[in-house]
Amino acid sequence: MINTTFTVDPANIAAVKRWLATQDDPRDQLRSIDIDEILIGPGVLLDLPFVLQRAGVNPGSKVLLVVDETPMFREDVDLKRFVRDLLYVAGYHETMCHLEHDEYGQVHAEFEDVEGLLWGLEPGTALIALGSGTVTDMVKHAAYLFDQRHPEEHPMVYICIPTANSVTAYAANMAVLLKDGVKRTLPSRFPTAIISDLRILASAPKAMTLAGLGDCCARFVAYGDWYLASALGLVDYYSEVPLALLNNLDKILMEAASAIGQRSHKGEAILARALLLAGIAQSVVNMSAPISGTEHVTSHVLDMIASHYHRGLALHGAQVGVATLTAARLYQNFLDTFDPRTVRFDTCYPEHERMKVHIYQLFDEVDPTGAMAKECWRDYSKKLAQWQDNRSLFEQFCQSWYEIHSEKLASLVCPPTIVQQILANAGAPLLPQELEPSVSWEEYDFAVNNGHFIRTRFVLSDLLYFLGA
Ligand SMILES: [Zn+2]
Repeated sequence: MINTTFTVDPANIAAVKRWLATQDDPRDQLRSIDIDEILIGPGVLLDLPFVLQRAGVNPGSKVLLVVDETPMFREDVDLKRFVRDLLYVAGYHETMCHLEHDEYGQVHAEFEDVEGLLWGLEPGTALIALGSGTVTDMVKHAAYLFDQRHPEEHPMVYICIPTANSVTAYAANMAVLLKDGVKRTLPSRFPTAIISDLRILASAPKAMTLAGLGDCCARFVAYGDWYLASALGLVDYYSEVPLALLNNLDKILMEAASAIGQRSHKGEAILARALLLAGIAQSVVNMSAPISGTEHVTSHVLDMIASHYHRGLALHGAQVGVATLTAARLYQNFLDTFDPRTVRFDTCYPEHERMKVHIYQLFDEVDPTGAMAKECWRDYSKKLAQWQDNRSLFEQFCQSWYEIHSEKLASLVCPPTIVQQILANAGAPLLPQELEPSVSWEEYDFAVNNGHFIRTRFVLSDLLYFLGA
């Protein structure tokens, strides 16, 4: 039985905007959600021509439809063909652009390749992303760059048609792209409209839907990381508006897990809403922190070391789900055992030079060109300096641990049993070996132990590392 409902339905974008307007934010700086409409339903793909027209793109206009090489279906119909026909019959001049696969059959969201999409793009052309995470991030960022370079033109119309309930990227105004082999979250833009057609979503490979569930679960640990970072002076903005937007996510996913695993329209509709709200949750605060912490850096490192271990990439959300379970266990252990009276503060501040050598050694092993180590150190060194500058906040944190922080932190993270039950009830991977392709313990441990070295965001593993745990 599914009884629990979301704070607000993303398919009613006006209601989302009204709800946001009533929220108290510590800095009063919530970003507005510049999405005109979100359609969720079993037949909403057929509305595409009307969505274009409502966005001001009339028949006769040019439309660039971006896809990858994966064969895609809407039940038993070839999806790419179907969308082309739909546009053709409605009178649009449609061109299709295929993003190319690598040797493992995957498209990489390379920053440089976004430029390729921009080549020859004329003002007035509408962009449609028909794909999952990578296609979405690349098309979104192409639209963003186009707008930046043509400030005199109307913002480009960009329609997002998710082909799988696999990631939180669709409604987010950020893009995750590869820069020197390292995943970076960049400011980007919102889609003009999102068309979440349940017949398409339920026809995607089951592993993709399960990956989306895993990506949503990140909220259950990432909020703890954001709170920690804020309490320790590693980030200057913390808001609980995204938390309120995703209120009851644990209950909702628990109730819906088996429907999600069964791929029913009902299950896909709930997951679609959860993923869209998660995308909006990060966008209102203009950072991915509410749904990206320890578990995401673990997943990013798994991607970074994949070619070193001669394997293709596993699905982002599947990795995030497995890593969320690990992070939830780390949190439980930390909450159960952390005793601030045993902290030896002098040992918690490693020297800059020593850390530099350590990070170069770690990442030069997986990328001998040195580019990855350099990119990681560039970000990590900033975090290290901030940690050192804010020693007094860590001392205060330890003093008020029992009084304030332990209880607060426990309220923000979910126990591992809950995460495990949600993932298991849907049939999602729980172990690195259950990922596709399978990941060995050696690789997984490398990612868990070193994820926090790749970026500036402070996470629980940073604290554990400084504590010498
Ligand atoms: Zn994610």
